[in-house]
Amino acid sequence: MPKYTKLKHLSHPHVLVLESAQEPYQCDGCKELGFGPCFNCDECNFNLHEECAMPQSSAFHPFFRKCDFRFYENAPGFRQRYCDACGKDVLGFVYQCLHEKAHDLHPCCMKLQRTLIGDGVTLHLRDKVSTKCLKCGSKEVSRGFRGWSYESDCGQYCFHVTCVKDLVLENWRRGYFDGNNTALQITVPNQDIVQQIGGSSSRMNVSKYWKMAKVALKLIISAIFGDPTTLIATLIQALLSN
Ligand SMILES: [Zn+2]
Ligand SMILES: [Zn+2]
Ligand SMILES: [Zn+2]
Ligand SMILES: [Zn+2]
Ligand SMILES: [Zn+2]
Repeated sequence: MPKYTKLKHLSHPHVLVLESAQEPYQCDGCKELGFGPCFNCDECNFNLHEECAMPQSSAFHPFFRKCDFRFYENAPGFRQRYCDACGKDVLGFVYQCLHEKAHDLHPCCMKLQRTLIGDGVTLHLRDKVSTKCLKCGSKEVSRGFRGWSYESDCGQYCFHVTCVKDLVLENWRRGYFDGNNTALQITVPNQDIVQQIGGSSSRMNVSKYWKMAKVALKLIISAIFGDPTTLIATLIQALLSN
């Protein structure tokens, strides 16, 4: 497939150019956070995720085998919708299935890779997990809603997709990306859980556990926000040196 670097999108009057966003942005299609590759109109500060700029008219997802998804610029109907992957509100572009009790997925959640491999950790995208998320300390994102997670082969490292999005968003709001705040504030991996898991179940050295948890986090950030750019590499560097 050819790699498009410029396109005209129905939702915007000007030509959009593929760029690497220099800081996190809000996608004007799905309203979700983006970082890295982005179709941008400089003049209007208008941004679209790659997957929002070039959606498929229909799609399938292995977690919803019986569902036939369609792309919409606005979710049909009047009811407030939320994304079945991350639990966040649907405020714009969305894939929704044709069932009466429909499922919804943000375009950026629809395209999440199933398997991530790197530096001794293999992570799988799951809709059910056996491990608690290292950011929020729970298996559920909110009461009765599990959301998708990346979980390691060994079952020891697990992060909700939404918790990793929030982590990047929190640091953005704190001004980390403006360059005037040198200390990236980070509360993950959750120390208590690290102690608990690293100390008891596996007798693994806690610092080794911590290190692998950060490798896992780095893989997930790259998966959510596209190819690692210099900026993502900088963020990851800050995470790892913490
Ligand atoms: Zn988007
Ligand atoms: Zn424009
Ligand atoms: Zn369905
Ligand atoms: Zn989502
Ligand atoms: Zn979580």
